[in-house]
Amino acid sequence: MSDMVQSLPTVSVSPLHKVLPPNSNAITWAPAISNTPRVPEFNSRFELNQVLAYVVKTGTAFSVLPLSHVASLCALTPSFSDAQKIFMRVRQPEIFLWNSCLRDFAESDSPFNAILLFHQLRLHNVFPDSFTCSFVLKACLQNLDVFHGRIIHAYIEKLGLQSNLFLQNMLVLLYASCGDINDARQLFDKMLQRDVVTWNIMITQLVKRGDVESAYELFSQMPERNVRSWTAMIAGFVQYGKPKEAINRYAEMEEMGLRPNEATVVTVLAACADLGRLDLGRKIHEFSEKSGFKRNIRICNTLIDMYIKCGCLKDAHDVFEDMKVRTIVSWSAMIQGLAIHGQAEEALELFSKMIQTGLKPNRVTFIGLLHACSHMGLIDEGRRFFTSMTTDYGLIPSIEHYGCMVDLLSRAGLLQEAYEFIKDMPMKPNAVVWGTLLGGCKVHKNIEMAEEAIRHLHELDPLNDGYYVLLSNIYADAKRWEDAARVRKLMKDRQVKKTPGWSSIVVKGVVHEFVAGDETHPQAEEVFKKWCKLLECMRLKGYVANTSVVLLDMEESEKERFLYRHSEKLAVVFGLLSTPPGETIRIFKNLRVCEDCHAALKLISEIVNRELVVRDRNRFHCFKDGSCSCKDYW
Ligand code: ZN
Ligand code: ZN
Repeated sequence: MSDMVQSLPTVSVSPLHKVLPPNSNAITWAPAISNTPRVPEFNSRFELNQVLAYVVKTGTAFSVLPLSHVASLCALTPSFSDAQKIFMRVRQPEIFLWNSCLRDFAESDSPFNAILLFHQLRLHNVFPDSFTCSFVLKACLQNLDVFHGRIIHAYIEKLGLQSNLFLQNMLVLLYASCGDINDARQLFDKMLQRDVVTWNIMITQLVKRGDVESAYELFSQMPERNVRSWTAMIAGFVQYGKPKEAINRYAEMEEMGLRPNEATVVTVLAACADLGRLDLGRKIHEFSEKSGFKRNIRICNTLIDMYIKCGCLKDAHDVFEDMKVRTIVSWSAMIQGLAIHGQAEEALELFSKMIQTGLKPNRVTFIGLLHACSHMGLIDEGRRFFTSMTTDYGLIPSIEHYGCMVDLLSRAGLLQEAYEFIKDMPMKPNAVVWGTLLGGCKVHKNIEMAEEAIRHLHELDPLNDGYYVLLSNIYADAKRWEDAARVRKLMKDRQVKKTPGWSSIVVKGVVHEFVAGDETHPQAEEVFKKWCKLLECMRLKGYVANTSVVLLDMEESEKERFLYRHSEKLAVVFGLLSTPPGETIRIFKNLRVCEDCHAALKLISEIVNRELVVRDRNRFHCFKDGSCSCKDYW
C-alpha cells in the first residue's frame, strides 16, 4: 500500500481543525450521545486526507465516511485507487458507489466525464453491471458518441445482458440518433423481445430521417400501439407533406379509444392547417381546452396558425389574446396572418406592440412585415424593414425576404427597380422570385419585362403551366393574339401538362372535392342548375367570361363552358346549396385562383350576400360585398 491509506497514521491530527466547523474541535468531534461520529465536510483531496488521518488514528469505522462523496472526489483523479482501497474496507459493492458517480456525470453538463470514469473503471478492473452500462450509454447519447456506445454494446454482450430491454432500447436509440440507422435496424430485428418503447424508437427515428414509408411499414406491424406510436406516425405524415394520411391515422386512433396527448394535438392541428380542415381543427381546439392544455404554448401557436390558414383571423386573434405567455412564434404568426389577410395596418401596429414588450423579431416576423408593406404599397417602410433586419437585428435576409421585396416593388409598378434588385441578389434567384416579377408585369402590362422574366422561368421551372398561362394572358391583354398562340404552342411542344385543379369544401365534417369539369359529384346536376341561375344575375352586373385564361384550342363557346366548370366555382356553388344562408363558405384550392373565377366570386359574394374565403396555393382571398381582400393583386 503505497499512497494515501498507508501514509495516514503519520499525518498529524492538528490540521484537522481547519476543516471542522468553527465551534468544534477534534476532541468534541465525536458526539457523546450518538455512537455514529459525525464526519466533517471535505471538498478536496487534501481535506479528505485530513479526515482519513483522523479515522485511522481514532479507529473509527470507514463506513461512516460519505462514500459516494469520496467516489466523486477521486473518480477522475490519480486517487482512484485510493478510493478503491477505502471501499475495500466497507461492505458495499464497489461498483454501486461508482455507478452513482457515473449517473451524476451522465446527467451533468459534461457527460463526457462519465465516459472518462468508465475508462478508469476498466483500467482498475472494476466489473461493470447493467447500471454502469445504462449510465455510460446515457452519456454517449448526450454526446452522440457512437464509438464508446459500441464499446458498451460489446460489454453488454459479454455480460450476457442481451435480455435487458432497457439497455437494448438505449442501444437502438443511440445507433439511430448517431445516424447508423442500419445498425439500429439490425439490432432491432435481432432483439429477442421488444416492447412498445422499442417500436416507438424505431418509428420516430425513421420519421426523423424522412423515411415515412418504412416507419409506416413498421407501425403497421406493431403488436400494440400507444399514443406515442400514433403521434409519431401522425407527425411523420404531417412533416413530409401528407396531411390527409395524418388525419386518417388520427381518426383510426380515435376509433381505438386512445386519448390524444399534447403532442398529438399539435400534430393534428398542423395537419388541419395544411388541409384547411377548420371543422376538425375546431373540434381539437375544444378537446384541448377541456383537457387543460390551454397553457401549452406550442398548442396555442399551432392553433393560431391553423385558424389563420383556415381563413379565420378572428379566432386566431382570440387565441392570441387569451395567451398568458407569448413567444416570438405567436407574435410572428399573428403579424403574418394579419398581413396575408390584407390587414396590413393592424400587422404593423402589432409589431410595434411586440417591440414594446422587449421581444426581438426573427426572420419570420420580417416576412410578415414585408408582406404587410407590400399590401399597403408602403415602399419606403418596406425598404426600411429590409435594411433594419441586418443593421438592427443582425439577421441575414433569406431568399424569401428578397422575394417579398420583389413583390413589394412589382406591385407598386417599380418593375425596373425590381428587376435590378433581382440582379443584385447575393444568391441565385429562384422561380418564385421571377414568377413574382412576372405577376407584376401582368398587372402593370409590361410585355418586355415579362419576356425577360419568362426566359429565366423557362430555365428554372419549365414545366409549370402557371407561367405560360400568365404570359399568354399578358399577350392577350395587349391584343397580341399571335404571340398568345405561340405561347400555347410552346406549351404543347414542351409537353407542359396542366396540373389538374381541384377545390375542396368541408360540409358537416365531410370533405367534398371538385376537379375542374367534374360531373361525377352526386349533386352535380343541382350544382349546375344553381350556377346557371347565378350566371344570369352575374351577367346583369356586367360579368363577361374571361376566356383568355383557357389555353386550349377550342371554340369560344366551348371555352366558356369549360370555364364555368372550374373547380372553385363548383365548390362555391355546392357550398351555397349545402350551408345555411349567411354562413361563410370556405374553399381550399390547390392552384392559384384564375382571373375569371376571381371576378366571378367577387360578384357572387355580392349577389348572395355571403363571405367567400378561398385559400389558394399562395394566399387568401376573402370575397365580400363584391371585392376581394387581395385588392386584385395576387
Ligand atoms: Zn378559374
Ligand atoms: Zn383576391
